[in-house]
Amino acid sequence: MKEHGMNELPLMNENEGIVLFYPNIPPNAVDEVSKVLHSRWIGQGPKVAQFEKEFEEKFCVTNTALAVGSGTDGLHLGYILAGIEPGDEVIVPVFTCTATNIPLLYMGAKIVFADVDPETLNINVNHVRQLVNERTKAIVCVHYAGLPCDMDELMAIAREYNIPLIDDAAHALGATYKGQKIGEMTDFSMFSFQAIKHITTGDGGMLTIKNKDLVEKAKRIRWFGIDRSAKQMGHWENDIYEVGYKYQMNDISAALGIAALAEFDNTLKYRQLLFAEYTKQLAGIDGLHIIGTGVTDREHAAWLCTVIVENRTDFMRKLRDNKIESSQVHYRNDRYTVFGGRRSDLPNMDSVEEKYLVLPLHHKMTLQDVAYIGKVAKSGW
Ligand SMILES: *Cc1c(COP(=O)(O)O)cnc(C)c1O
Repeated sequence: MKEHGMNELPLMNENEGIVLFYPNIPPNAVDEVSKVLHSRWIGQGPKVAQFEKEFEEKFCVTNTALAVGSGTDGLHLGYILAGIEPGDEVIVPVFTCTATNIPLLYMGAKIVFADVDPETLNINVNHVRQLVNERTKAIVCVHYAGLPCDMDELMAIAREYNIPLIDDAAHALGATYKGQKIGEMTDFSMFSFQAIKHITTGDGGMLTIKNKDLVEKAKRIRWFGIDRSAKQMGHWENDIYEVGYKYQMNDISAALGIAALAEFDNTLKYRQLLFAEYTKQLAGIDGLHIIGTGVTDREHAAWLCTVIVENRTDFMRKLRDNKIESSQVHYRNDRYTVFGGRRSDLPNMDSVEEKYLVLPLHHKMTLQDVAYIGKVAKSGW
């Protein structure tokens, strides 16, 4: 199937060249997981509690962190806690992982796609302003590539309409906005620990919750609707009052997460170093620039290095011929049949749709690899 906007080129062999992503497994992960496997708890137990506590201390002291089975689980849980009901309008980014918006389909919400900012590919706050109305029940944003959205403006709109702002921070672990941590700014933030994120637990996620009054409900909905601690203490009344899911994390995953947290500062620094090297190596090349580098009031978590490039297919071919993998990674969501299958009138998204491309960025790469990619790009395509 050849389709408008899709990657026309086959991916390269995983074992050769510079691949796009590589899972980040800390050296002590095997030992830590092994300890869990030899213990009495492998499901949700003490390791999950420890991971939540350490995550909170590092990323969101003002909020409560709840570990879940995936980022998608975390978003769905956040949307439920935000009170989104069938038919409610929710303004969402058109350009993101489908995981951002799929849970809204579970709930029968009415998805309203907002355009991108052409320089960051984050949600365009002017368009959000045009779309918001008294039927809007929530706003969702994603910090694309790791660069925080325009939070002051988004939070002002949410305040004005008295609706929650939920951020999909799957790309943005460790990012800050004007000195504030992503993870403690909004009502609900979601982080993902899927295979290729900054921290991986195989699959997993974290929802951070600002309103402490929602935490007990969140824990129940995470586990079938059952008050797990009451059950364990033996005073659970043996009834379920609300529909819950099976969205908890297990201790095997949490052990991976704890190991990765311990070295997160270095993980982030190294990714940022590679990103900075990209900005140096790709500077001044005609027909190509990295997005988001002009924004200096917020700290980039450097999950992706995305460029806007003319003649993208030719550029991808040139990279592939030089054993460098590249991909679009995410596609505008409105084109998917489940979301309506019709491109909305989004001029900025239209203008970049055929031009954006993600370059390799992961801990197995060296500065020399980035310099090599720069050299290949400089030689033209
Ligand atoms: C990875 C990711 C998610 C969550 O994915 P899971 O696989 O469910 O953890 C959500 N949104 C974005 C933008 C992502 O990149």
